[in-house]
Amino acid sequence: MTNRTDAPEDLNLNNIVARQFHRAAEAMDVPEGLLKQIRACNAIYFIQFPVKFGDNYEIFYAWRAEHSHHRKPLKGGIRYSELVDQDEIIALAALMTYKCAIVNVPYGGAKGGISFNPRNYSREQIEKITRRFTAELITKNFIGPGIDVPAPDVGTGEREMAWIADTYDAFHPGGIDNLASVTGKPVTQGGVRGRKEATGRGVVLGLQKALETPEDFKNLGLSRGLDGKTVAIQGFGNVGYHVAKFVAESGAKVVAVGEWNGGVHDPKGLDIEALDAHRRETGGILGFPGAQELENPGAVLELECDILIPAALENQLTRDNAPFVKAKIVAEAANGPTTTEAEKILLDRGVFIIPDVYLNAGGVVVSYFEWGKNLSHMRYGLLQKRLEEARNETLLKATEELSGRSLPDGLRSRLSVPPSEEALVNSGLEEKMTRAYEEIREVLLTRDKVKEMRTAAYVVAIEKIARSYMELGIFP
Ligand code: NAD
Repeated sequence: MTNRTDAPEDLNLNNIVARQFHRAAEAMDVPEGLLKQIRACNAIYFIQFPVKFGDNYEIFYAWRAEHSHHRKPLKGGIRYSELVDQDEIIALAALMTYKCAIVNVPYGGAKGGISFNPRNYSREQIEKITRRFTAELITKNFIGPGIDVPAPDVGTGEREMAWIADTYDAFHPGGIDNLASVTGKPVTQGGVRGRKEATGRGVVLGLQKALETPEDFKNLGLSRGLDGKTVAIQGFGNVGYHVAKFVAESGAKVVAVGEWNGGVHDPKGLDIEALDAHRRETGGILGFPGAQELENPGAVLELECDILIPAALENQLTRDNAPFVKAKIVAEAANGPTTTEAEKILLDRGVFIIPDVYLNAGGVVVSYFEWGKNLSHMRYGLLQKRLEEARNETLLKATEELSGRSLPDGLRSRLSVPPSEEALVNSGLEEKMTRAYEEIREVLLTRDKVKEMRTAAYVVAIEKIARSYMELGIFP
């Protein structure tokens, strides 16, 4: 791993996203004024607020960016990290707008963040910070079931989402749709089964789709399907852990996992559940029995493997390490992991990049299902459960009577049970990820000026948003 030599403007995610947008815009025939409107961030709220810990006051800096109001409500995660700044939040909000359009989820994009490192604060302190931030968003109308609906991102999870929902509820007594003010909540607090796993599951569905399409990987020298592929993953948080779990379940071998303080490597394949248990027990992945330790946190990106999955933060693949990436596929589970220069180097070397703006959309897809569940006040599958059970039973009996044979017990019970909420959610997620992949591919195959998947994904997004603005009559 060499030193970072990228210029600061090349590491600015806002610039990176703007360049990606520009590349797609150049391949399209959309009026310049409309493109400007689609690219611009519609609203940004910056807050500086105090929180009292004991006798001391600490000031926190926070943002909520609402990138596009062409669809409402707006939707996007909340990030807790000391690296959060206004440009990053605006860029991540823009990515949300394009992502929602790509997977046909009817939201505008948003993102929020507080600049602090949650590792340095207690649970009680984080709760205070979260509730205060939520109150600030409420007073400025930057949150609400029909306005702007946050979700988890780096440094936040179900716990924080439950606090946000509870604070919103306290400020809106009797509000019947209050639970729909935030997604990614625990199932016991109005969440939906499958949300926590959704981003990771969506990444693996996208990868499977790519590896099922021989033309997409014919130059890579890879066989069809995930089975037997070697995978290296950077980041073992919510997304990274679930990606690791699901690729391993699909027959791939996770040969390395990297974290902020180093990584673990085993060419024979790591046991992901054992690694997770080790992380829970010791607070990190290092020291995992039987694995070789990677001292340098960046080493995981340059290891021998078929598929590299950055699932941590932005700017991980830069012009310094891109020439040394050995993977044939880079599957962007994180937002913005690849700088513009790194992307060029990787593409020139024939690496197939499955872009963030499509690949990690599983989270927002299932957030959409959670929001719908909260607004309907009912669990998915409740109404049809008994009806389906009775219909399945009738069909099974008819099959047995007509064939004169009994179905094996295992098959019988599988066919008679109606799908659970989780199965319905996963099926909806698969449909969204599959359809979006096909739409992107269609652009890639039919537009001469579009040469790779990221630009194709942006073209899909920009066309849908442009159509929406034109139908609204804003740009007659
Ligand atoms: P998380 O906080 O749960 O996990 C991030 C992990 O990355 C942590 O384990 C952290 O220790 C690790 N990390 C931090 N710096 C690192 C470094 N330099 N090298 C290696 N590891 C490092 O966050 P998450 O929700 O898993 O999000 C990860 C990425 O996925 C982010 O880019 C996020 O925007 C994106 N994403 C998340 C969701 C979601 O539903 N949570 C949805 C879409 C996209």
